[in-house]
Amino acid sequence: MPQPELSILETAHAYFNESCDLLEIDDGMREVLLHPWRELSVSLPVRMDDGGIKVFNGFRVQHNGARGPYKGGVRFSPGADADHTRALAMLMTWKTALVDIPFGGAKGGVQVRPSDLSEAELNRLTRRYTQAISHIIGPQRDIPAPDMGTNAQVMAWMMDAYGQLHGYSPGSVTGKPIELGGSYGREAATGRGVCDIAMLAATDAGLDMHGATVAIQGFGNVGSFAARRMEETGAKVVALSDRTCAAYDPAGLDLDQVFEHKARTGTLEGCPWGETISNEQILELEVDILVPAAIEGVITTENAGNIRAKLIVEAANSPITYGADAILKKRGVTVIPDILANAGGVIVSYFEWAQNIQRFRWTLERVNDELHTTISRGYERTRDMAKERNVTHREAAYAVAVDAVVKAIDLRGFI
Ligand code: GLU
Repeated sequence: MPQPELSILETAHAYFNESCDLLEIDDGMREVLLHPWRELSVSLPVRMDDGGIKVFNGFRVQHNGARGPYKGGVRFSPGADADHTRALAMLMTWKTALVDIPFGGAKGGVQVRPSDLSEAELNRLTRRYTQAISHIIGPQRDIPAPDMGTNAQVMAWMMDAYGQLHGYSPGSVTGKPIELGGSYGREAATGRGVCDIAMLAATDAGLDMHGATVAIQGFGNVGSFAARRMEETGAKVVALSDRTCAAYDPAGLDLDQVFEHKARTGTLEGCPWGETISNEQILELEVDILVPAAIEGVITTENAGNIRAKLIVEAANSPITYGADAILKKRGVTVIPDILANAGGVIVSYFEWAQNIQRFRWTLERVNDELHTTISRGYERTRDMAKERNVTHREAAYAVAVDAVVKAIDLRGFI
């Protein structure tokens, strides 16, 4: 009988506990970090376009702020419940610590399918949510950003709603439009960071990025920018999927054509370039690098044995279940964990926040250079720890991050 998969929160706790075992962290400190520092659950009544009222559930979870203000995205998704948001908040604490940016970890969630709402309804919902959490966020307290289902427009509404209460505060959210104090390079940052990391990991694995075959699951912000960047670096994107299906061509996809079809029809279905395969099949292709960039839990104990990629770069948060991770470890597949692979987004959020505080704009070149330097350092720290302790990249990344957070808590002396 196969074991049931762990939930995303149980998975985050399991990796954290393993890390505490490795670092010999005492039980009291474990308890501190197993619990979010603060969480707020809010009901959000919104006037709909038809005149009726709907009430949505919203959350903001602040996991740990020992290293700086809380930081993390806001997810608009039916699955963004309390436990889900808790898990993602914890991942943010490790992510910011691993790449050594001066933030803690938080996450927001609103249980809504954004495509079910008109633009005006979404605007009203975003303002309601921002007002409801406004007393626990702010440029020196907790800085939201985009995540699944939210984007620069939503951040603009959040900044505006926050500013109505507290005065003009561009540093209150990141991922804003350029016109409102957003940073050059923020939109592309997560996908770009994924490629920077893939390149470093490929080199260490003896894989030449030039001509390396890549399959990318997901056509959202991360997947689409990762695909473009992979092509720029000389890798061959052979498969790319959205929520409906995947386009596959072993000789390499013509991305201009695939993007044009997606932009014109809104879907990859009926894409005349390459063969159409399913969203599950894309994960099992024989490729050098697999990039799950869609949602959590797509590589499971069911399909982990069929994965043929040499290297998996976790662009989504928690795309591999706990059970699947153990199978991949046994099979010797290198996995670069989410807390490192997708840290490019929060790194450039940090640059945006710093620019907002200084009222000074950086060039795109500077942003991309500093992103590369910061994420590469995170990679080196992870690789060195993996060698030193003879553990996987995930175990090493957790060890580096947990150690940094525990040290910060100890130094502050607040427990
Ligand atoms: N939502 C992104 C993440 O999960 C970015 C968070 C941020 O920029 O604060 O890393």
